[in-house]
Amino acid sequence: MFETANIAIPTRLRRAAGATQNFVRAALDLALPPLCAACREPVEGKGLCPECWSKLSFITRPYCERLGIPFVYDPGPGILSMQAIADPPAYNRARAAVRFDEISRALVHALKYGDRLDLAPMMGRWIGQAGRELLAEADALVPVPLHWRRLWARRFNQSAALAAAISRDSGVPIAIGALKRVKATAQQVGLTQSERAANIQGAFRVPEDGKAEVAGRRLVLVDDVLTSGATVEGCARALLRAGAANVDVLIFARVADPGRTSI
Ligand SMILES: [Zn+2]
Repeated sequence: MFETANIAIPTRLRRAAGATQNFVRAALDLALPPLCAACREPVEGKGLCPECWSKLSFITRPYCERLGIPFVYDPGPGILSMQAIADPPAYNRARAAVRFDEISRALVHALKYGDRLDLAPMMGRWIGQAGRELLAEADALVPVPLHWRRLWARRFNQSAALAAAISRDSGVPIAIGALKRVKATAQQVGLTQSERAANIQGAFRVPEDGKAEVAGRRLVLVDDVLTSGATVEGCARALLRAGAANVDVLIFARVADPGRTSI
């Protein structure tokens, strides 16, 4: 149907190589007692020990209905933050499972750099709960893509792992070919907000063979962490340019600076 043969083969090979490594790692993991992803103490089951779990900061209402940033007090239903009014994002709504703090950072790092793929179902479940309303209206999930060079180095895309878990729980399919990272952007860490926006400019594109997965559809972007929002903004712009009917955003952990959440 699509002319993808020239890019599908290396993609398949890459996936096969990654799958083999993941399988070997999974086999090794079975032989070791599970450790808490945050404090590295042995735990019953998987994920976090009870102490670290109790320190996680789940985001619940009241929050800005647009950006999902928690309010320190309840301004009443449907109120938007000053930030959402003064500088509205390209996407429609964003929701995050937890605040970005010491514990959630440890989870994100364990998934991203520590190869703790076993954490993805738990993190995905929390994201799904935070985004229940968005998922009920969604046609497909779009994980924020990595540039192929980074994908090679890291072997898997943590956003895709989270999207797979959300998809399993919610039944919302993943639009695999919807978005490509065409520019290898510098790491966002340490950049100012305007530097982040410039860094991400033109980084994402809907490829020709991905347009059918985007045009006229209600999409939900999935990413692990939201700091300035420049990455999901860049993705949302590319999807909307390609004719997406709606773009929402689901995040595992977001920076929720109380100084910027006043209304
Ligand atoms: Zn712990």
